[in-house]
Amino acid sequence: MKNIVLFGPPGSGKGTQAQKLESKVGLRQISTGDLFRFHLGNSTELGKKAKAFMDKGDLVPDALTIEMLQSEVEKYPDAKGFIFDGFPRTAPQAEALDAFLLSRSTSISAMILLVVGEDELVRRLLERGKTSGREDDQNEEVVRHRITVYHEKTAPVADFYSAQGKFHKIPGEGGIEAIYASLEALIKSL
Ligand code: ADP
Repeated sequence: MKNIVLFGPPGSGKGTQAQKLESKVGLRQISTGDLFRFHLGNSTELGKKAKAFMDKGDLVPDALTIEMLQSEVEKYPDAKGFIFDGFPRTAPQAEALDAFLLSRSTSISAMILLVVGEDELVRRLLERGKTSGREDDQNEEVVRHRITVYHEKTAPVADFYSAQGKFHKIPGEGGIEAIYASLEALIKSL
């Protein structure tokens, strides 16, 4: 099994690349952002709890996020691997993911960081906000807050995988196809 953590700040292109990997390499994409948006859109109990955090650009509490992620993984017992997109975003999430995968006799193969400069991130997110309908992409203050939260809470997760010798990074600027080519080559080499 290959399990990849696709990592990077908001707007770094994780979702775009994860979807391509799913269709071309057959690893199943699990995006916690998409899952939360599904719950929000359907006004589920989880959606109601997550809404206030998401609107502000804050992280949803770990316990809710971890439980949602685990039940999603459990839906696909036959998957040949997963691409985790937007998870783990905190150290406790990373620890919980390791323990959960171990209980299923598997583990993370690699974490791959998409490197994108801050000005480019803000530009991409505000551009996406014009068409995506995502409110958290339409307000520059919320966009910048999400990037700050990334630096404070999420970026340290890279150290967790680095300590396990699993950290890799590739450039996340340039054409989507060129980025995908480096990503696919890296994953195939694992
Ligand atoms: P982006 O990476 O563009 O900020 P996502 O679509 O991955 O956006 O996530 C949108 C929002 O969903 C986040 O701002 C956060 O509120 C919530 N979220 C997504 N994944 C997580 C997570 N692993 N832990 C906590 N909150 C999360």
